[in-house]
Amino acid sequence: MGCRERAAKADLLRIVAIKDECVPDPSGTLPGRGAYVHPALVCLDQAVRRRAFTRALRAPGALDIKALRRYVEQTTVAEQATP
Ligand SMILES: [Zn+2]
Repeated sequence: MGCRERAAKADLLRIVAIKDECVPDPSGTLPGRGAYVHPALVCLDQAVRRRAFTRALRAPGALDIKALRRYVEQTTVAEQATP
């Protein structure tokens, strides 16, 4: 969703909107409409800039992505720390 790169669903992070907030759903268990991005900040930022979440999740207005961004930052750091 962020970039145009094709990826297997397993490589992507599912995101759902709860109220006006984007929430990461790594286990894919939260109900509702989901959007998929690579769990990478570049992809996330691209999606945010293009308002892809608002459209994909049919949100009535702007979505808060602070929690989502923090989650992606943490996953990215954790992955880089692993040899
Ligand atoms: Zn991507």
